[in-house]
Amino acid sequence: MTSSIPGRLKRLPELAQNLFWTWRPDSQRLFSGLDPALWETTEHNPVRLLNETANLESAAGDAAFVDAYDRALQDLDSYLARRDTWMNRVYPSMDGRIAYFSAEFGLHESLPIYSGGLGVLAGDHVKSASDLGVPLAGVGLLYSEGYFRQRLDAAGVQQEVYEPFDPRNRPVLPARDAEGREVHVSIPFPGRELHLKIWEVQVGRVSLLLLDADVPENGEEDRALTARLYGGDSRTRISQELILGVGGVRALRALEIHPAVFHMNEGHAAFSVLERMRELVADGTSFDEARERVTRNTVFTTHTPVPAGHDHFAPDLFEEFTTGWPEALGTNREGLWSLGHKGEEWGATFNMTVLAMNLSATRNAVSELHRDVSVEMWDYLFDSSAGRPITHVTNGIHTWSWLSPALYELFERHSAGRAWREVVEDASVWSFVEEIPDRDLWEARRATKRGMTEFVNQRLRLQRERTDSSAPAQALDPEALTLGFARRFATYKRATLLLSDPERLRRIVKDSDRPVQFVFAGKAHPADEPAKEFIRALYAAAGAEDLAGHIVILEDYDMNVARHLVQGVDVWLNNPRRPLEASGTSGQKASLNGAPNFSVLDGWWPEAYNGKNGWTIGTDKEYANLEEQDAADSESLYTTLEEALIPLYYTRDDSGIPGGWVEITKEAISTVAPVFSTQRMVQDYVHKLYVPRIVPAR
Ligand SMILES: *Cc1c(COP(=O)(O)O)cnc(C)c1O
Repeated sequence: MTSSIPGRLKRLPELAQNLFWTWRPDSQRLFSGLDPALWETTEHNPVRLLNETANLESAAGDAAFVDAYDRALQDLDSYLARRDTWMNRVYPSMDGRIAYFSAEFGLHESLPIYSGGLGVLAGDHVKSASDLGVPLAGVGLLYSEGYFRQRLDAAGVQQEVYEPFDPRNRPVLPARDAEGREVHVSIPFPGRELHLKIWEVQVGRVSLLLLDADVPENGEEDRALTARLYGGDSRTRISQELILGVGGVRALRALEIHPAVFHMNEGHAAFSVLERMRELVADGTSFDEARERVTRNTVFTTHTPVPAGHDHFAPDLFEEFTTGWPEALGTNREGLWSLGHKGEEWGATFNMTVLAMNLSATRNAVSELHRDVSVEMWDYLFDSSAGRPITHVTNGIHTWSWLSPALYELFERHSAGRAWREVVEDASVWSFVEEIPDRDLWEARRATKRGMTEFVNQRLRLQRERTDSSAPAQALDPEALTLGFARRFATYKRATLLLSDPERLRRIVKDSDRPVQFVFAGKAHPADEPAKEFIRALYAAAGAEDLAGHIVILEDYDMNVARHLVQGVDVWLNNPRRPLEASGTSGQKASLNGAPNFSVLDGWWPEAYNGKNGWTIGTDKEYANLEEQDAADSESLYTTLEEALIPLYYTRDDSGIPGGWVEITKEAISTVAPVFSTQRMVQDYVHKLYVPRIVPAR
């Protein structure tokens, strides 16, 4: 790639390789301006763009482009060189890195190694750690086929398409040691060693290490182990978790990164504690002492109360993959087994969450309500006299990755002199939002909504051409009240709740004076048949004559679709079965962009809702059974739509502005933006979980 880059633009590849550009609108404009058509077809992938564009020579001769290039470089250089970071100010003498392990990282659509909210949260965590100057290193896997691409056929049945990805077209480079050599590690596998290559992704100031089993030293089957995120069976899963946990620790060591704190984002990475114990035992420490020492600086975040989110392995499988481990840990089979097993809750299995809970000094849930649910769920593991075993840090979002350019500019204009960009976590700086003239905010939102509508309608045209061009064409109306619902299609999220009473729904959406429309998107896990059935049902509703155009469903949900929807719709709909949504973050993205949350009081919403910044669905009471809960929640959803949202949206003043609506919009922005940012969240992790765990080096 570098060979064909003109000298005047020779650092363009550096700009493309550091994902810092994903939260710098000017750098994005630089790349899109270089080759607008390729920018779209490459899914906003500047690395591939630079490999394939024919425009580099002409750009090098274009004064405006060169000037924008110089400014983007200057921006990156000064960001990387900055020493007066939050971390350096607040903890000037703290010395010690944080290793952050996660099975998925959602950083950008051009690096498809995420499936949903968990991955995007990890990506946003890393980005804010970079902004704040927190010395963190991420550890994950490089899935060569990523997560699947979703296609919906003419009957609305989800098809999974896998596309192998060429690392040369991705923002990944081989990790190198001090001598410039590529770094590989290996881990013990049944009857063989598994070899792993380490890749590195630059996310601002933070490095993310990604492990890859697709190397020539491995057999054919082993090479495919890291091909797909959440693919394969339980053998694939335990293999991937050994790669992440054991391989991840070895990768850090090989690169001479010696973390002071190990943070496991979900139980997927919990084998890392075994590898760290093995190191200590090899140095002469006993099993019990190794266990105690590893626990001291381990932090664990649990992300869901849904059982399918907690991996557990049958004894045969576990023993096959941990042959030799009992001896290496200075224990016996029972000793090892007991680390991940207690009581009968999960049958006779080794549970990764139990392992992580057992070997962490601090455990946290991701919202206040989720903490209560988790304390109850894992109560049997702990001695209840020792105080609450699980704390919480409520999730947030990386403001700069999710805020629309139109609102960004509006905020810049109206924050006059206030350093809102530096301290987004400070609620008081957001008071400027109240003073923005209603018209300006309304117009900025309308413009973004028009852009979203065009994007959705274009996607719908392509979908229709590919599947059934005889079906009636569907399109969103940029003037109608638009609600968005997009996320993983796990059944507890109840994507079809809206369809509970089709007759009532029809009356609501088809009022010609006050039309309403819904846009849905989301992938079902390939093995989740009930979730796929939800997609099919929505697809059928969208295609029904009498609802046509009032419900649309987009295929292939990813961060790009997410950005368009959270920025462009009027309201964000969220109706999970309480209390199963541990936090949720998509409503935070929408609120930041002035699309208030309309949600069940689950996850983060009870902490944010103040009666003026959105709407609730249902109550916080508990129901006798699921049918009763669904009935109460759908009734509440319809009623609130009919009596609150629709009248408010369509009550306009003489110049067409809905004053009451804009008021809620402003309240949503100013109350959600600061508190539910990863800037606040990562600071909480540092204060509450990281710094207290930094123990003197052994
Ligand atoms: C934010 C985000 C999510 C999380 O959605 P929830 O409604 O919080 O479950 C999932 N997928 C993508 C692509 C996202 O950007």
